[in-house]
Amino acid sequence: MLEIIVFGKGYGEAILVRVNEKWIVIDSFIEHKSMQPIALKYFSDKGYDIEDIVGVICSHWDTDHVKGISEIIEQHSDGLSVCLPIAYNDTRFTEYVLFNADETIGITSEFLKVLRLIKKKSGNRVYAISDRNLFQKEIGDPEVCLKALSPNDNQYTKFLDSISIPTKGQRKTHISLEENKISIVAYIKTCIDAILLGGDMENSQDGWESICDNFNDAKCHVFKIPHHGSQNGYNGSVWGRIVDRPISIITRYNPSNLPTDEMVEKIAKESSSVYVVGSRPKKDRSTINIVKKYGDHGTIKTMSMLDADYGYVRIYKKTKDEPWDIETYGAVEIH
Ligand SMILES: [Zn+2]
Repeated sequence: MLEIIVFGKGYGEAILVRVNEKWIVIDSFIEHKSMQPIALKYFSDKGYDIEDIVGVICSHWDTDHVKGISEIIEQHSDGLSVCLPIAYNDTRFTEYVLFNADETIGITSEFLKVLRLIKKKSGNRVYAISDRNLFQKEIGDPEVCLKALSPNDNQYTKFLDSISIPTKGQRKTHISLEENKISIVAYIKTCIDAILLGGDMENSQDGWESICDNFNDAKCHVFKIPHHGSQNGYNGSVWGRIVDRPISIITRYNPSNLPTDEMVEKIAKESSSVYVVGSRPKKDRSTINIVKKYGDHGTIKTMSMLDADYGYVRIYKKTKDEPWDIETYGAVEIH
């Protein structure tokens, strides 16, 4: 059995992959009614055992991908293996995180919590770089290939070089790092089929171009489109080179009204079907900007989606020769 479930709520993305009855969680958001990380809510709704989760991948450290990751690790009795982009294992990044540790938007405090929990529970840290196999021991089947296709060396050195920490007295804002560029693209192949999870990878020479140039494996028939189906995550070479008329899945990103109708149309032409997951932006104020002041340190803007409904698409297949079965729940549009 190969199964993939992609959750979205308009601002937030999470994925579950089941291989041989073992689950991998990729990214997380908090479901607003239960206030649980969506993966844990799904597991409790279905009566699944969270001990069957063997690993967590944080594709990159952006607010719409990381909320609730620490709770998943905390609720699990063992130390889970947690995979992060390799750039996060560098003192320059740690210094940046510690500098921002007192901010309350929760991204960096969530990161520190994750690191603390991995240590406390004797979990494994796995750092992703292109072509590295992930969670082989955890999945325990040499026939299954789960590997990172990114970031490459250039991407992660450029990312580290871009970190600058304000000196004392300078305005403190949430320094926006170019997280997307080091985002983990995950490739999963089993005897049943192959799938591609695009993270938020962007279209650049060191991004999708480099991934396509180095790709030499079986083509994928399920594709979680990167960066919410936007222009800067689209790369023509991926189609045909890595994916072959796939079932495409896009999660909505309401703050920027993504995906655009044009992009959905363009993607639909090259896909067997397209699923857009998560509720559309509401005309009322479902998005509010919260601006917090931090004394002399300036302000931090966060966005809160008050009542965004979530949805998911579940795609599964028991044997190589049968077609993919697809089921949707909640806010999902099919094209
Ligand atoms: Zn995102």
